[in-house]
Amino acid sequence: MKASYLKLHEQGELQKRIRHARELLTPCRLCPRQCGVNRLNGDETGICGTGARAMVASFAPHFGEESPLVGTGGSGTIFFSHCNLLCIFCQNYEISHCHDHGKGRENDPQQLAGIMIKLQEQGCHNINFVTPSHVIPQIIGALPFAIEKGLYLPLVYNSSGYDSLESLELLKDIIDIYMPDFKFWNPEHAKQYAHAHDYPKFARLALKEMYE
Ligand code: SF4
Repeated sequence: MKASYLKLHEQGELQKRIRHARELLTPCRLCPRQCGVNRLNGDETGICGTGARAMVASFAPHFGEESPLVGTGGSGTIFFSHCNLLCIFCQNYEISHCHDHGKGRENDPQQLAGIMIKLQEQGCHNINFVTPSHVIPQIIGALPFAIEKGLYLPLVYNSSGYDSLESLELLKDIIDIYMPDFKFWNPEHAKQYAHAHDYPKFARLALKEMYE
């Protein structure tokens, strides 16, 4: 399978997406939280606690994902620290919620590209971005460096579904496989467990967009 982002790169469209994506960080309106902070100025962060650089908690071939993604070499998961939804029952609580506990390392675009290449070299069948909604510009920004180093694997977008249509539009023909984890149908439950009463509204729209 030839990853769709390679064509965008050849056409010069990827660079346009990178510029547009960075604009969404200042003020930040990347996800439905619409915090409005300037994430590029160094010390401002919103609900997701992430600034200009993506923080990675861990990366490795993962054999516990859905079987079509795992194959024999594993899915190349990159677990991003922090999150824009922050469910109180999160199974990755330490890396999603605990901003001050040193769970992860900040990566510039070249370093993030290097992680993708390492996973490819380890025989993974795809690059699987786990909890990526708050770092979409950083992911897109790393791709040209990864492509220059030979990245060709398809990309998996593994989010909670709390994504804005504008940010998903940026990912069109970049992401090959969407794997959202839908959380709540009921706004009251979304409010109680994630302080996000609008989750059902946004996630419905996001899933439709991902499907299309
Ligand atoms: S990505 Fe983070 S800072 Fe931006 S709107 Fe969402 S939660 Fe707020």
